[in-house]
Amino acid sequence: MSTFASLESALKHYFGHDTFRPGQKKIVEAALQNKDLLTIMPTGGGKSLCFQLPALLRKGITIVVSPLIALMQDQVDALQDNGIKATYLNSSLEYNERRSRQMAILNNQVKLLYVAPERLLNERFGLFLNQVQNDIGISAIAVDEAHCVSEWGHDFRPEYSKLKLIRQRYPQIPLQALTATATKRVRQDIIQQLNLRSPNVHVASFDRSNIHYEIQPKDRNIYRKMLRAIRNESGAGIVYCLTRNRVEEIATRLKHDGIKALPYHAGLSDRERSSNQTSFLRDDIQVIVATVAFGMGINKPDVRFVFHYDLPRSLESFYQESGRAGRDGEPSKSILFFSLSDRQKIEFLIDKKPDPIEQKIARQQLRQVIDYADGHDCRRQIILRYFGEKHQGNCGKCDNCLHPKPIEDWTEEAQKFLSCVARCQEKFGTNHIVDVLIGSRKQKIYQYGHHLLSTYGIGKGRTAEEWRMLGRSLVHQGLVGQTTDGYPVLKLNRRSWEIFRGHLAVKIAIDKHQSKTNTAYNPRRAEAELLYETLRKLRKQIADRNSLAPYMIFADSSLKLMAQVRPKNKPDFANLSGVNEYKTQQYGDRFISAILEFNEQHKLPVSLPSKSQMVTLQLHQQGLSIAEIAQKRGFAVGTINSHLAELIEMNQPVALNKLVPADKQQAIINTIEQLGDNILKTIKENLGEDYSYNEIRLVRGWWRVQR
Ligand code: ADP
Ligand code: ZN
Repeated sequence: MSTFASLESALKHYFGHDTFRPGQKKIVEAALQNKDLLTIMPTGGGKSLCFQLPALLRKGITIVVSPLIALMQDQVDALQDNGIKATYLNSSLEYNERRSRQMAILNNQVKLLYVAPERLLNERFGLFLNQVQNDIGISAIAVDEAHCVSEWGHDFRPEYSKLKLIRQRYPQIPLQALTATATKRVRQDIIQQLNLRSPNVHVASFDRSNIHYEIQPKDRNIYRKMLRAIRNESGAGIVYCLTRNRVEEIATRLKHDGIKALPYHAGLSDRERSSNQTSFLRDDIQVIVATVAFGMGINKPDVRFVFHYDLPRSLESFYQESGRAGRDGEPSKSILFFSLSDRQKIEFLIDKKPDPIEQKIARQQLRQVIDYADGHDCRRQIILRYFGEKHQGNCGKCDNCLHPKPIEDWTEEAQKFLSCVARCQEKFGTNHIVDVLIGSRKQKIYQYGHHLLSTYGIGKGRTAEEWRMLGRSLVHQGLVGQTTDGYPVLKLNRRSWEIFRGHLAVKIAIDKHQSKTNTAYNPRRAEAELLYETLRKLRKQIADRNSLAPYMIFADSSLKLMAQVRPKNKPDFANLSGVNEYKTQQYGDRFISAILEFNEQHKLPVSLPSKSQMVTLQLHQQGLSIAEIAQKRGFAVGTINSHLAELIEMNQPVALNKLVPADKQQAIINTIEQLGDNILKTIKENLGEDYSYNEIRLVRGWWRVQR
């Protein structure tokens, strides 16, 4: 096969990564045995590597079929920037350029050739390929975005359906199909259409563990809230809106508020769209405000947040859209802004659909999104359940897990609310009912004589917002009905009457304002962040000079590592995850001098974590638990725990709150304060059974740094 001691060392050599992502290694091994393969991995799972690495390790050339010219170009640029011999042939090239690329291929100077499906199957190109096959050999054909062959998928492309011919024309060459689409139907279709031979099927988990999921109520302040959230982010993000008008409106407001933002929707000219997209890829702007037209072919791995300003149509589209965040595995955020009126808008549209079957499907899809947005359960569990996957317990990383909403008995309040609905003759919506309850002096109240009702002002003990929250909850729980045609009016139902009679208790989840997790000020961390920003600027300069997207130079994760480890020489630099020899030669000097200069300016000492500790830190930052890290690295849990404890003591950014619950932290700290920084055993004896050595070590590390 090749000169590498292991697949891992080949991975490091070509791509700079230290470890394989889940599934990658098995797939690469199967590919090296010339098996047909079907790989299903969520966006960001790392599909490309599954055909790129085998291509580099085998004799001959691998052909990659890819649907979009822009996508091809990106992938080839990124490969070339790793020093890998890749090229593409498509209609955008001049004759001479095409000739010279073909010559390079025939001279065995290319390992990966990207082409569009229509080219692969045209006759002239077929002749060329025959020559390639005879002279240097074709090691495999990889079909990327393979769901495009299926009419059952969401993105059928007629040119893909011709790919059936590949197998006939090149019966000996192994085929590898890749997609992020999860449905069984499409999977079977791919196998059948491409005529895969007892393919090795690999379905990866659809859990995007580095994405933090969150819902925020969409109220009058939504724009301000979103603006604040964007200002808190230093990386790039996407804001999805339902309509073109909304896209334009939000993009304009953001620009006005000093955010670098551009719109993207089908109403713009091709030129504008592609220029806005490029600005986004190159980090010339921070935010792209878009309709769902912005999607396929957006290969930017360092999108840090995706916000849904409007309710998505289905959980599948929500998953795909939010999944454009964090393809590089770094922590990223998905926020969906949700209001009941959005739901009503969509229901209204569904009611207008002529086809009853379409109506039914749309209703079901809507219900699934609402379950996600409105539920109190772990959001990740809800998403994975949709894909037929189980998540072991709560994820501990979504808003519902991090800030579980307390459940309270509001039966008495519900009785007041419902009797007010009854007194108002079941002719009004929530807002009016709430106005009556709190004794509002609005014109509308007097107009209907509702200031004379016995329920007028009986709800002064609670705020209008609390009453609205109760109203929402009653509707969601089906404890009161609500009309769906036109303006939503509350109607009592059978269960409302049970509440009146005291036969049914009303429990609601209380939406207190989320408390921020405590991240104490930490000087060392602040320095790392400062250096990270400096290195980002350097990366952007270099990228601009080479007309590349910044992520092609180095991934965010590599920059973070540089800022934390601060390598002083090239060997240390080359050791960082995401950095290989080639990149060290290309860029090492400039980054190292920036780091040294920073050290000089800030007079920093250089006692730093070991390489192994840094690998642990990186996995921790991707959201893996201690047990997961231990399993992935083949270490004992205790070892990983000591890594983290030592990292804490070195003031590295370890999220203690995710490792030890806050109340336990407090108890451990109290004990240490009492006993002093004593041996662990004494501290543990004092705390008792419920506290593990591992937990105590972590908290003690933190305590030591704070002193
Ligand atoms: P997909 O095509 O499945 O959406 P990509 O192949 O574009 O995903 O990979 C997503 C990102 O993950 C890229 O930035 C890539 O460099 C990175 N990546 C892939 N494999 C690894 C790995 N083993 N270790 C670290 N990063 C990886
Ligand atoms: Zn969760």
